[in-house]
Amino acid sequence: MPKSIEHLRIHFYGVQGSGSTFPSTKEIDDLIALTDYELLKAVFQDIAERSDRDQSFECSIPDIIGGPTDKNTMLAYRDRLNIPPPRIYGGLTTCFHIETSDGYDIVIDCGSGFRNCAKELELKWGDTNERHLYILGSHSHSDHTEGFDQAAVCFDPRNSIYIYANYQYLYALDSYLGIFSKYVEEDVAGLKTPIDFSLMPAEFTAVEIRNLSKPFTGGKGGFEAAEIHELNTPIVIGETRITPFEVYHQAPCLGYKFEHHGKTFVFCTDHELRHGPDPEDPRQKASEEAEARLSEHAYGADALYRDGQFLRSEYEGRTGIGSSAAVPRVDWGHSCIEDVKHMARKCHVKRAFIGHHDPNREWSDLNWIDESLLRDSEDEESKVELARGGFVLDL
Ligand SMILES: [Zn+2]
Ligand SMILES: [Zn+2]
Repeated sequence: MPKSIEHLRIHFYGVQGSGSTFPSTKEIDDLIALTDYELLKAVFQDIAERSDRDQSFECSIPDIIGGPTDKNTMLAYRDRLNIPPPRIYGGLTTCFHIETSDGYDIVIDCGSGFRNCAKELELKWGDTNERHLYILGSHSHSDHTEGFDQAAVCFDPRNSIYIYANYQYLYALDSYLGIFSKYVEEDVAGLKTPIDFSLMPAEFTAVEIRNLSKPFTGGKGGFEAAEIHELNTPIVIGETRITPFEVYHQAPCLGYKFEHHGKTFVFCTDHELRHGPDPEDPRQKASEEAEARLSEHAYGADALYRDGQFLRSEYEGRTGIGSSAAVPRVDWGHSCIEDVKHMARKCHVKRAFIGHHDPNREWSDLNWIDESLLRDSEDEESKVELARGGFVLDL
């Protein structure tokens, strides 16, 4: 029986940046070796605890494992050893699912992680006819939209899907799928995917989040959203208030602050705290303004998810990532791990998860970066770690 949701339950379906990855043969071998080592270490520790000083012992193998050496007994023995699961960071691109205690399902972004998320939503909804999904989009890049045309929820005619996002995100989906306008230009149809609105029977409603204090820079036609929602004004879904705010990236990008009965979660993917040479550069100023906005929203938050794709040495071009070349990554649109750690401490964030992992970063590197973050956090009120796909956070 799953534990009931106190306020918000946040499922991390996709935390990979820029593109989906699958572990290489070497990474799989390394992971198996580490898992085997942890298991063997626990087994021999258990045996040593039962043996005499001269390392001999009187009991039999069934005494140790608690029965005959069949599969069930051996697996039950393994479970009793309580070995921590290996840290796997996942290779699917951005998607989070938030379940609220008052029964709403909210998804952030539809990267490749949305496929598994959608499968589990269909299972959760089962035979019910109350099937409403609220999606919040950050920005139009493909790693935040690529899972949409494979998501089971889009192919079930019983589902009502409300998508809140900026114009560019809504247009990115509509231009090749036609889910809002029920139309795809002839010269685009079928090029990106064989799927379009005519094969997606769920009901889709677009709510455009727009900064009404700025001139509209959206599309030249195409479609119009069913509703315009003013930026910085909370979106209210049941008892959850969600405030969208602008961050700094190469495409217009939104972060979101969730508040539910005093609990706060701040989501910020694809945002660059820029370190350029000229403080007067308008890009530098825009980045710093967005960073200040983000810090204000994140102040005192219970949890923060934030893009930290690079180490500072990689951002500055002094070191490469995995086997990729050492080139400066200024203006690639992503922040540095060190900066996220500093910001989380400065803003008294209780728990910060660094994600949007670089697709060239190897699993072993993610592992040591995470270990050093966790070690650094031991005596701090603000815990900082790498985000892992499949992780579930209860607030
Ligand atoms: Zn991204
Ligand atoms: Zn992006």
